Formats: sequence, C-alpha cells, structure tokens
Amino acid sequence: MDAEITIIGAGVIGLAIAEKVSKGHSSVFLIEKHPSFGQETSSRNSEVIHAWIYYTKDSLKARLCVEGKKLLYDYCRKYAVPFNNCGKLIVATSEEEIAVIEGIRQTAIKNGVGDLIVLRREEIAGMEPNIFALEALFSPSTGIVDSHSLMKQYETNTINNGGLIVYGSEVTGIRRINNGYEITLIDSDKKNYSFTSRIVINSAGLTSDKVSEMVGIKDDNLQILFCKGEYFRINPPKNRLVNRLVYPVPHPNMEGIGIHVTIDMGGGVKLGPDVKYLGSNVYDYKLTASKQEAFYKSAKKFLPFLEYDDIAPEMTGIRPKIQKPGEPLRDFYIMEESDRGYPGFINLIGMESPGLTASVAIAKYVNSLIIN
Ligand SMILES: Cc1cc2nc3c(=O)[nH]c(=O)nc-3n(C[C@H](O)[C@H](O)[C@H](O)COP(=O)(O)OP(=O)(O)OC[C@H]3O[C@@H](n4cnc5c(N)ncnc54)[C@H](O)[C@@H]3O)c2cc1C
Repeated sequence: MDAEITIIGAGVIGLAIAEKVSKGHSSVFLIEKHPSFGQETSSRNSEVIHAWIYYTKDSLKARLCVEGKKLLYDYCRKYAVPFNNCGKLIVATSEEEIAVIEGIRQTAIKNGVGDLIVLRREEIAGMEPNIFALEALFSPSTGIVDSHSLMKQYETNTINNGGLIVYGSEVTGIRRINNGYEITLIDSDKKNYSFTSRIVINSAGLTSDKVSEMVGIKDDNLQILFCKGEYFRINPPKNRLVNRLVYPVPHPNMEGIGIHVTIDMGGGVKLGPDVKYLGSNVYDYKLTASKQEAFYKSAKKFLPFLEYDDIAPEMTGIRPKIQKPGEPLRDFYIMEESDRGYPGFINLIGMESPGLTASVAIAKYVNSLIIN
C-alpha cells in the first residue's frame, strides 16, 4: 500500500483527524481539492465553541460537543490558538419567552451542561448594558475561536508528525481492492493519477455523500441537502456595544436557533445565520441584500440601539444537512463501513454544527474506530 491512512477533505474536521492519526501511524495522506485548507464550510461559520444546550443527550453530536468543547479549550491553550471564553446569553424579550428559559436550562442539565445561570434584568444590564432582555440564561462555558488559526495549527502538527498534505487534487474515484482501496485523483494540471491506501476517511463536507457513492455506498438517508445561512454585520462603531454572544430564545422547529449575535476575535459583530434549504446542491454563496429588513427586525427586539442602516450583508455559509426540512434533528453520521462490505472505509456525513467545536473530539473518536 502507498498509504496507511488517507483522509479526503482539509476542512477543520479532516485536518483535526489528520493531526490525530498522524501521531500514531506512518504514511498518512490528506487530500484537498482546493489550493489550501478550509476553503468551504470551515471558513464560513460562526466560530462559536458551543456548550450543547438545546438538544437531546443521546447522540454523537451531544457527546462529541460536550467533550469537544473542553478538548478544544485545552488545545487552544496548549498551542496558543486565539480564543475567547466570552460566554453566551439566551435572552427572553416577552413573558412567553421567559417560560421557555427554564425548559432550556433543564435540557442543558440533562446534557451534562450544569453551569447555566438564570439572570434577572438588572444582572443582564450589569453585563451587557446595551441589550434589552427581561430575563436571560447565561452559558459561561460558551466561547469563540479563531478557526483559521485552529486549522493552521492542525495543519502544522500534521506536517510535523510526518503526514503528507496534498492540495489542489480532487478525489474522483475510489475502488475497493485487496486489503484496501485504490484512490484516483485529478490534479490542478488536469492530470489523473492513483494510489492505494489501507484505510480511507471521507471527510469531504458538502460532497461527502458523493465521495461515499464513489466507493459504492449510496444511501438516500445520507443524501446531503445544502442549507444556506446568511450573516449581516453590525457596522462600527455600534459593533462595540455588544461583548458577548447573544441569542434569542429558539423557535420550536430547531432547524436554526434564531438570528443571533456572534462576535469574532477581530472585534467584528455579526447577526445570523438564517436558515434556507437550497433547492439543489449548488454552491450558492450569494448575499441577499433584501433580507436586511428581516435581520434588522429580528435583532432589534434585543438590540434596541440598532437602526436599519447599522447593518450590512457580510457572508454566507452552507450547512451539509442530512436532516430534511421539517424532520427532527439528525445526528452526525460517523461510521466504519465494514457492515456494508467496506472495511477500513470511514464515512463522516452530515457534519454540520457543532463540527468545529467537536473537531478534536471527532478526531479522537475516528482514531478509536481505526484502532478497533
Ligand atoms: C452557517 C454555519 C455556521 C456554523 N457555525 C458553527 C459554530 O458556530 N460552531 C461550530 O462548532 N460549528 C459551526 N458550524 C459547523 C462547522 O462549520 C462544520 O461542522 C465544519 O466546518 C465542517 O468541517 P468539515 O471539515 O467537515 O467540512 P468542510 O470545511 O466543508 O471541508 C471539507 C473539505 O473537503 C474538500 N473536498 C470535498 N470533496 C473533495 C474531493 N472529492 N477531493 C478532495 N477534497 C474534497 C472540500 O474542498 C473541503 O475543503 C457552522 C456551519 C455553518 C454552515
């Protein structure tokens, strides 16, 4: 075999896996179609280190997020990756929303997040004098991370461990052979070549369903649906009026968690993302200026200082959802595919939020699948 382990996709998850597995294995390849890492979902997200507050406990998402949050903070401290454990407020702006807050706290406790604090109006004003809230839930362990620096660190450590990262090469075919797989690539000069690998890890994000199909695993249940999220920024100087993450009480369908305020390591403040399933899997990163009114109205409820012209379109990201519109929350699909006849082929599909938060924990989990 040319490689012991090949990882397809250098987003934050593929990079974290590459770092982890290259510690214990020789000849680890990481293949990425773009000229550098993190050109897709991993650089188009909120950069929030989530606490796993809202959803149910019995899932990989819950387990890997709660474990991943701690591992990610430790990792950032160890390698001086910029982060800010700024905390997050979930704000109730009406009597009905106050009633929802206690339910959220109880769910969080069941998820192992026992540090949430209910804050009254005066306490909120002490922390964030410029926002409006009748009551709030404060999550002290939520934070933000500089995702580019994080990916750079994963890349550096992979290379230092002896891993080989190949940029500008797209995987176009995977064939099962004796004791492994033959992988075909096309490089930036449109040249095709192939090599063999004992283990293949599919971490191809938005096209991970297509990469899975290359080897022969086609499953309607694992079909990715592109789901766009758009952001507006709060222009200076009003970006300085918020210092923490501020979320409204979520709506019951939970496809998204409402237009919220995220801050970044550079002092930027964003509103969003919203949630819109695209009808087809096209990379549509266009900004919709006409959404300004809707963003403004949603945020105005808890940001009373905001005027219509204080915000402007900022960026978009696309979620790799396997959850169909209206369906209950779907879990990450992380599977060693021996049961389908593909030993040593590991699929990661539907790696939406909290994939960034959980990246170190996901890498640890995938490594355990290899060892077993
Ligand atoms: C709007 C939005 C907000 C989010 N906010 C948060 C947040 O605040 N906190 C959080 O924890 N998570 C968040 N997430 C989720 C997080 O961004 C993802 O879970 C994470 O980035 C997924 O990483 P990845 O490596 O799986 O995918 P990607 O970053 O998409 O990387 C996959 C890589 O595979 C490559 N690739 C694909 N096919 C091939 C091929 N055939 N050959 C070679 N290379 C290939 C692609 O080019 C790409 O670089 C958010 C996501 C979105 C969309």
